[in-house]
Amino acid sequence: MRVALDVPLRRLFDYRVPADAHRELRPGMRVRVPFGRFRSIGLVMETADSSDVPPEKLKPVIEILDSHPVMDAAALELVRWAAEYYHHAIGEVLAAALPKALRLGAAPTATSECWAVTAEGQAAFERGEPRRAPRQRELLSRLIEMGGATAERLAELDPNWRAAARPLVARGWIASSDEPETVAEEPFRVLPSDLVPSAEQAAAIEAVCESMGRFGVFVLHGSTGSGKTEVYLRTVERALARGQRALVLVPEIGLTPQLVGRFRARFETPIAVLHSGLTDHERLVAWRDAYSGRARIVIGTRSAVFAPVPDLGIIVVDEEHDASFKQHEGGFHYSARDVAVVRARRAGVPVLLGSATPALETLHNVIKGRYVRLTLPRRATQAEPPRMSLIDLRTCAVRNGISTPAVEAIQRHLREDGQVLVFLNRRGYAPTLLCTACGWIAPCRDCDARLTVHRAAGRLRCHHCGADAPLPERCPQCGFGVKPVGQGTERIEETLAELFPDVPLVRLDRDVVRRRGDMEAAMSRMASGEARILVGTQMVTKGHDFPNVTLVVVLNADQGLFSTDFRAPERLAQTIVQVAGRAGRGTRPGEVLIQTEFPEHPLLRSLLTEGYEGFARTALAERAQASWPPYCRLAAVRTSARNAQDAITFLEEARAVAQVPKNVRILGPAPAAMARRAGRYHAQLLVESPDRTALHRFLDAWLPQIEQLRSSRRVRWALDVDPIELF
Ligand code: ADP
Ligand code: ZN
Repeated sequence: MRVALDVPLRRLFDYRVPADAHRELRPGMRVRVPFGRFRSIGLVMETADSSDVPPEKLKPVIEILDSHPVMDAAALELVRWAAEYYHHAIGEVLAAALPKALRLGAAPTATSECWAVTAEGQAAFERGEPRRAPRQRELLSRLIEMGGATAERLAELDPNWRAAARPLVARGWIASSDEPETVAEEPFRVLPSDLVPSAEQAAAIEAVCESMGRFGVFVLHGSTGSGKTEVYLRTVERALARGQRALVLVPEIGLTPQLVGRFRARFETPIAVLHSGLTDHERLVAWRDAYSGRARIVIGTRSAVFAPVPDLGIIVVDEEHDASFKQHEGGFHYSARDVAVVRARRAGVPVLLGSATPALETLHNVIKGRYVRLTLPRRATQAEPPRMSLIDLRTCAVRNGISTPAVEAIQRHLREDGQVLVFLNRRGYAPTLLCTACGWIAPCRDCDARLTVHRAAGRLRCHHCGADAPLPERCPQCGFGVKPVGQGTERIEETLAELFPDVPLVRLDRDVVRRRGDMEAAMSRMASGEARILVGTQMVTKGHDFPNVTLVVVLNADQGLFSTDFRAPERLAQTIVQVAGRAGRGTRPGEVLIQTEFPEHPLLRSLLTEGYEGFARTALAERAQASWPPYCRLAAVRTSARNAQDAITFLEEARAVAQVPKNVRILGPAPAAMARRAGRYHAQLLVESPDRTALHRFLDAWLPQIEQLRSSRRVRWALDVDPIELF
């Protein structure tokens, strides 16, 4: 039989089942096996008898951990697909798919410790034993009377029962066993809602429900507040009514508590919630609820796409464009949204991708007719969409990053009782510390980056490696005074406080939000109207409604326009639309001001005049012309090494051994735009093809070759299929 082990090797390992195995072995069960000098827990992928390893060399399994598979056939197939598609070690794919506690051997279902009297114990009791230990005798009699009991029940009757149990166990009169807890079928109830779906919502719900029991991808395109969540709730309700279960995926930060709250308010049924903030034990508990089917709804972030959901009826991916659905860290770079679509196809169920700003790939699939778009217009109760306009930074006075027209607009909106949101995607006080005498700029020792000034904390910090040093008052080179140059949210907050001294202000960024609850606290100061201005990073684009925000100021649109990453403009447009969506959500119309030095930029123009739709058309045309995704398929090989040459040499050798077919192209290698990060040098190579199959066939042949390269030992490298970030 063949076992997947959590090691970075793209292969399975052969073992034999000992003849005296007391359990029947099936794929999806966990086994303890010898591995090198250690023992390891692996997952059985195949139970074939044949093996390329000669039988006498085949090591036996030490222990079979499960009596039922922890992963069913469909789950195994999905993992196998992901390992193949992302060309990744299957054991590491499983590590992403299964909670750590399970990989360490925890039982897949909750068990209870059950105690019972043995035959000897029964006989002893009848003889009148134990004679001089009344507590032990009482416990024995109690267990006989109850026909056995759980530890929990015994503790209720006598908190000190274990003291009495110990000598009884020693004499073999009582014994315990772990019995799986029985999961009661809990009925679900839908709590009534008095919302009447709009015609568009009704049409969307109908379209998805028509597809119940069949695969279909539906793109639910609607601005924030247009009623997408209501569509999720009603389609999930329909799946539940069919006796099926639902999987709901949400982005990494912010949204989870709110969305979970909406589901809990609508459904009286256990909901399993899986996200990165859980302890190992909490994750195990949630996973068990999903596995046993007790939870009819599973809500989770990225890795929840692999969660067990028996009788899956529908998958929902909220904010499908969100970058957090793509795993960046570690070796296994997968897109949870894409895996969700594959899972839905295999399960034969509909999948609903919701967003106010669908990814260009997703829109391309709509254009190609592969996905069905369902559009929700702004609701009638909402104000008109906000008016967007540009502020040309080259032609007006700017103070600390805020232009005079922006200041005037803020004044006006505050006077008219509105709230204001100021967005800047850079935290800290200033991105640079400069010596005006000698020109010294505070550098990070380990990165090709400048240190960011954090003035309130009195620190200089690197936003790439986390380096942290005291903020110097004088230039370490010439002793002259130093000054912070440029703006971060902390400085904008200071400037706004000077400009509007009587206006309460909140800031929202990773420096202010340290603990769970900080974000809610800041948001609620804004929601209650106590604070009038909100300054923040990306964080402000997520979550809460601010119905009284009437003005949004985007301080700097230009970082997104000229990046080495072809996806940067898409992210910029999504951010602008998402922040803009915060304005005018009550009954009053909103205004959005975008500061830029490039007001003629075609992407900005199309966004302004035709909205996200128009932007998407222009951006897709540019992608087609440059033949970037979705007009080609891409994979990136990324390396990092202690020295710059090693990172490049490995990629050069990899390129040299490649037998590149006609329709596949290799681009690079090239050092990353920021080559040195945290003391390591980064480089990448791109593999591109118009044909997905050709690309994967090439990777299949090529990867084993480059693994063999000696130069691979001096680098860390990883393959990223469908990368969403390039550098
Ligand atoms: P989205 O998920 O697109 O941001 P929601 O579903 O959260 O939108 O809807 C925004 C608000 O509008 C919620 O308070 C919701 O209860 C309300 N809402 C949704 N659909 C309707 C409807 N058909 N009639 C009235 N209110 C609605
Ligand atoms: Zn650094």
